[in-house]
Amino acid sequence: MHLARFPRVFLAHLPTPLERLDRLSAALGGPEIWIKRDDCTGMSTGGNKTRKLEFLMAEALAEGADMVMTQGATQSNHARQTAAFAAKLGLACQVLLEDRTGYQDPDYTQNGNVLLDHLHGATTELHPGGNDMVAAMTAAAEAERAKGRRVYVIPGGGSNPTGALGYVNCALELLAQVNDRGLVIDRLVTATGSSGTQAGLVAGMCALNAGIPVLGIGTRAPKEKQEQMVYDLACKTAEKLGCPGVVRREDVVADTGYVGAGYGLPREDTLEAIRMFAELEGILLDPVYSGKGAAGLIDWCRSGRFKQGERVVFLHTGGSVGLFAYKGALARG
Ligand SMILES: *Cc1c(COP(=O)(O)O)cnc(C)c1O
Repeated sequence: MHLARFPRVFLAHLPTPLERLDRLSAALGGPEIWIKRDDCTGMSTGGNKTRKLEFLMAEALAEGADMVMTQGATQSNHARQTAAFAAKLGLACQVLLEDRTGYQDPDYTQNGNVLLDHLHGATTELHPGGNDMVAAMTAAAEAERAKGRRVYVIPGGGSNPTGALGYVNCALELLAQVNDRGLVIDRLVTATGSSGTQAGLVAGMCALNAGIPVLGIGTRAPKEKQEQMVYDLACKTAEKLGCPGVVRREDVVADTGYVGAGYGLPREDTLEAIRMFAELEGILLDPVYSGKGAAGLIDWCRSGRFKQGERVVFLHTGGSVGLFAYKGALARG
């Protein structure tokens, strides 16, 4: 596996730190918990989409694009990081934002990621929840091409085999860090949504024969659908890497028990996880992804599914800018 063979723009701050969470580990009384700080990837407050965009934006440049287009939820971290890359690389950027929560709060509709999309010079187009966003983006791209734009379309979350290479790179990076420090890792835990993060990690870990199981904590889809999405993309990513067949179906595991009422709607345990990380470790999570991922991590510790003597790494996928869109939910009552 030789990632340097794929075009890439080197804009992320890498390697991201790997840190031990002493106070959280002590509070939970179970495994030794470590955190991989992909909230510190650098582009416009960072997050997991930055690793994917290093490969996606290189492809856009190679194809001669002068505009990138993508889609996501109103408070999409992916849209914000795409807008920042486009600004840095001198490309126009349009993002289609879907209202998946129904929140009318001006903090939700205008603050957080939306504020930063606009600061980076992107144009945003709002769509009602449940719209066919793939069809909407195809139509929007055609309209721009009719005006003479050379549009590169990035799927939601940057989740295709090119974007997933960013998380193959993360698997390589993490493995080098733990090997250098003599740390045996029993499990890697990440929030999973559009699936590129978990798929890239699984493809990378399998290709490296690392023997480190990856647990995805769902943020939207039910278990069967989530695992199938991750598995399909992990297989395609392994093929792209030149090692088809290394991912087995049982390598893909998602626990979708922490989603609650739906995407972008935090539960009580999401808010508790955000407070625990903030108060015990000085680390900011987010209400849509990393807060739910951490709620899963905490519950797996408390219920004894992660045991004393084990070492667990939580991948912090970023998103803390979204906190400013959820002032109401986070205010202490
Ligand atoms: C997009 C996102 C995720 C989910 O990653 P996928 O690759 O879409 O599964 C997790 N955390 C944050 C903060 C995100 O923005």
